[in-house]
Amino acid sequence: MKKILITGAAGFLGSHLCDKFIDEGFKVIGMDNLITGDLKNIEHLFKLDNFEFYHHDVSKFVHVPDDLDYILHFASPASPIDYLKIPIQTLKVGSLGTHNLLGLAKAKGARLLIASTSEVYGDPQVHPQTEEYYGNVNTIGPRGVYDEAKRFQESMTMAYHRFHGLETRIVRIFNTYGPRMRLNDGRVIPAFIGQALRGEDLTVFGDGSQTRSFCYVDDQVEGIYKLLMSDYAEPVNIGNPYEISILDFAEEIIKLTGTDQKIVFKPLPKDDPMQRQPDISRAKSILGWEPKVNRAEGMKLTYDYFKSLTKEELQRSEHKDFSDRNRK
Ligand code: UDP
Repeated sequence: MKKILITGAAGFLGSHLCDKFIDEGFKVIGMDNLITGDLKNIEHLFKLDNFEFYHHDVSKFVHVPDDLDYILHFASPASPIDYLKIPIQTLKVGSLGTHNLLGLAKAKGARLLIASTSEVYGDPQVHPQTEEYYGNVNTIGPRGVYDEAKRFQESMTMAYHRFHGLETRIVRIFNTYGPRMRLNDGRVIPAFIGQALRGEDLTVFGDGSQTRSFCYVDDQVEGIYKLLMSDYAEPVNIGNPYEISILDFAEEIIKLTGTDQKIVFKPLPKDDPMQRQPDISRAKSILGWEPKVNRAEGMKLTYDYFKSLTKEELQRSEHKDFSDRNRK
C-alpha cells in the first residue's frame, strides 16, 4: 500500500485530498496544527485502519516513523483575513515548514508536491496568468507574508529538485471553493453565503469590478492528483478560467439564496488583485486536465453544505482568536 503524508489535513483542501487518497487505496497520514484547520473535516476518517493523524506544526522538525512514497504540503493559512491575523506563522509554514518537508522527502525518497498559489502573481499585469509570468507582488504589503512565503517555497522546492534531484511538483492553486470552507475565514464565498443565511447585507469590497475565477474543489483535487502522478516538475496552474466580477458574483448569490438583503460597498483591502484568471493550457496539455463542474452546479453544492450547518455555527461569524499565537 502506497503511503502519503498530507500536511494541512484538517483544512478545506487538505481534508478533501485525504478523502481522495483514501479512495485511491493509499495509507494516508494527516498532519495539522489545527490553527485554522478543524478536526470535524476529517473525523469520518479516524475509524479507518489506513488513516492516521498527527497533531503537529510542520514549521518544527517533522518526524514520521513510516516509509513515505508521497508528501503533499498543504499546511498554511490561506485567506487574507487569516494571514493578517497570523502573519508570522504564515511566513514560517511556507518557508521553514517547506524546508522541513523537503528534508523529510529527501530522507524518505518520497515525491513532494507543494501547494503554491495564484498569489505568486500578486496583482497581475498579465491577463490571463500563464506560468511564465513572474508576477507583481508587494513584498511588504499585508499579503506579502503569504505571497513571499509561497514564492520562497517554490524557489526552495526547485533548488532541492535541481541540486538534490528530489522529485517535486508545484501546483499554483487559483480560488477554489466547496463544502468544508470555513464559514468565518473571510473569503468571499463563505462571507456572502454566511451573510445571506444570517439575513445580513452582502459586503462587496471596492466597486466590485475586481474579478476572480472560481474552481470547484473536486476539480481542484483531480488536477492535483494528476499533477502528483505526472513527471512534470515546473509549476502548473490549476483553476477554473471562467471569470466573473465580484459585483456580478454577489448578484448571483442573491439569486441562488433567494435573500432579500442588499449589496453594501466597503473599502477595497490593500493590494487586492484587480483581476485573476488562470491560463490552464499547461494543465490541459501536460495533465489532460480541465475543470468539469460549472459555477451553478458547484455553488448549489456549496450552498447546500452551508445550509446544513447548525444555527449556532452560522452565528459564529467571529474569527478564531489567534491573539496568543501571533508572536511565535
Ligand atoms: N470580497 C468582497 N467581500 C467580502 C469578501 C471578499 O468583496 O466580504 C472580495 C475581495 O476583496 C476580493 C474577492 O472578493 O476582491 C475575493 O476575495 P477572497 O478573500 O475570497 O480571495 P482572494 O482571491 O482575494 O485571495
